[in-house]
Amino acid sequence: MCAILSKRIDFLAAFALSISISHCLMNAAKLAVSYRLQSVQKVAQIYPPPALCYTPSPKSKPSLLETQRHKGYVMKFEFATATRIIFGEGVLREIGALAAPLGRRAFVVGGSSRQRLTPLLTLLAAQGIETVVFSVPGEPTIDLVLEGVQQAHAANCDLVIGMGGGSALDAGKAIAALLTNPGDPLDYLEVIGRGQPLLTPSAPYIAIPTTAGTGAEVTRNAVLAAPTQQVKVSLRSPFMLPRIALIDPVLTIDLPPAITASTGLDALTQCLEPYVSNQANPLTDALCREGMQRAARSLRRTFEDGGDTTARADMAIASLCGGLALANAKLGAVHGFAAPLGGMFPAPHGVICARLLPLVMAANVRALQERSPTSPMLARYAEVAQILTGDAAAEANAGVRWVQALCAALAIPPLANFGVTEADMSAVVAKAQKASSMQGNSLVLTSEELTQILHQAL
Ligand SMILES: [Zn+2]
Repeated sequence: MCAILSKRIDFLAAFALSISISHCLMNAAKLAVSYRLQSVQKVAQIYPPPALCYTPSPKSKPSLLETQRHKGYVMKFEFATATRIIFGEGVLREIGALAAPLGRRAFVVGGSSRQRLTPLLTLLAAQGIETVVFSVPGEPTIDLVLEGVQQAHAANCDLVIGMGGGSALDAGKAIAALLTNPGDPLDYLEVIGRGQPLLTPSAPYIAIPTTAGTGAEVTRNAVLAAPTQQVKVSLRSPFMLPRIALIDPVLTIDLPPAITASTGLDALTQCLEPYVSNQANPLTDALCREGMQRAARSLRRTFEDGGDTTARADMAIASLCGGLALANAKLGAVHGFAAPLGGMFPAPHGVICARLLPLVMAANVRALQERSPTSPMLARYAEVAQILTGDAAAEANAGVRWVQALCAALAIPPLANFGVTEADMSAVVAKAQKASSMQGNSLVLTSEELTQILHQAL
């Protein structure tokens, strides 16, 4: 009897257990279905059914992914850079072996000093690579680049090597692109041209920077002056990313203090502007933080002691980080102004950026506080201040003051020294508003705010 009762109890317990399990399973199934439905709904929100196999229309509203932002960065992005980045003290010695597989006759684009190219030319000759040298004495114009293309064609060059500051690197990049994309360069130029995409990959291009500023060794554009239109414009294409960026900080050691200061402040600007741009993304953020930290601790040191190799290496990395960031996010109002100012006046790019940086930072912080006090950009400006000052509690304006003090210590000259006057204000502001970098600024600055910045920079 007991045995029968016990079996019955076991049976009832098993039955209850099975009901309980099936109940749990049903709940789990319900949960799974509900979760799946939510996921499907979320996916459907992002990609409406017809859009699952669609061609996006440029006129359609931005998708949820495109507009989603956390802490001010975009969650739809691309990251592209030079095929190889080779960094280190003394890496120039590897140039022969690196260049040999890419070509046998190199078109070498350098700055005004041919002497600076001597080690490069010797190393290439030792590898049996023939060279034709082309000098870029100032910031490159469209005509100068066309002359370079003609000479490179005439000499049957199959490889381009740029060695110098941003001007030489950009000129080399444009020459490599136009060697394989014949026709009128206006077909491909932004703003003043037709802005058509390049159709063919550039000739193999190796970029070797000798300043720490522009990061042009890893960018996909070449800034060219158009003297007739008095503006600087970009030739831009993913095809223009160099095949090799060879960064040897030793090459920057003999830069004079004034050039160290202005190029270094350009590097800092190019790490700071993408960080507070409306196209920042998690990858560029990491690079910007790294670059700002290194520039903050080493820019003054390189200015005071050019032979400080540790500080020089820091600045070469800051410049590289800036180039990587600006090529994959956007810049801001400093570079928005730099395009027309550099086209209209004989002021070096680095000096223009250095002079404008603290003024644009101050204007952006003030405008954000007045018009968009909950913007994540304000928190980003506070982070910038914390990185620059090393004070974890620093607020946005402390960063502005830190950059102001740095520019004063580095003796950055006013723009009036280069012939900019009050009478030029409205023309510069009108052109700056159209510049592509201005579109990346933390927020839209008014004409009055832009004019005020320029007024203070004279
Ligand atoms: Zn710049």
